[in-house]
Amino acid sequence: MTHTPDSPPSNPAASAAGETAPDTALTQAELGHLRHCVRLAQAALDLGDEPFGSLLVDADGAVRFEDHNRVSGGDATRHPEFEIARWAAAQLSPAERAASTVFTSGEHCPMCAAAHAWVGLGRIVYAASTAQLGAWLAEWGAPAAPVAPLPIRAVAPGVPVAGPAPELAAEIRALHARSRGIVE
Ligand SMILES: [Zn+2]
Repeated sequence: MTHTPDSPPSNPAASAAGETAPDTALTQAELGHLRHCVRLAQAALDLGDEPFGSLLVDADGAVRFEDHNRVSGGDATRHPEFEIARWAAAQLSPAERAASTVFTSGEHCPMCAAAHAWVGLGRIVYAASTAQLGAWLAEWGAPAAPVAPLPIRAVAPGVPVAGPAPELAAEIRALHARSRGIVE
């Protein structure tokens, strides 16, 4: 019997990894949308808001709505993903929502993941994960958020999710460092 350990099985280990399976396989178009989100996050930071940006792409690949974090006015719920959910509920049919993809610089928080699922939006692609952000904040000794750092899958298990994008991690980390006055 021939034994060829170098031949990968047809069913790669990723399929058994569950939550970490989508970590790869972002297309160039998806990375382009994520880079756009990072620019929105940068714009938010320049305005004194927290560095998060998000956009909604419809089934034809067109960007239909984009926003960035706007919490500096005192309303801590002004997250871009929440704005997207409310915009979509008002402007898109249920079928259009389900066929849309939301791209975001940082993985949805539980509030936004819930809003996304309640209005029936489709896939989410994020650049940096909640776990990554939590690790950075812990490293910097920053206070924890008042909401449990649950991944999207724990809040909205029916929503297809992809991310993170390692290509963008350093840039996003730098934005969050700057947001908290951390010099690296
Ligand atoms: Zn949120």
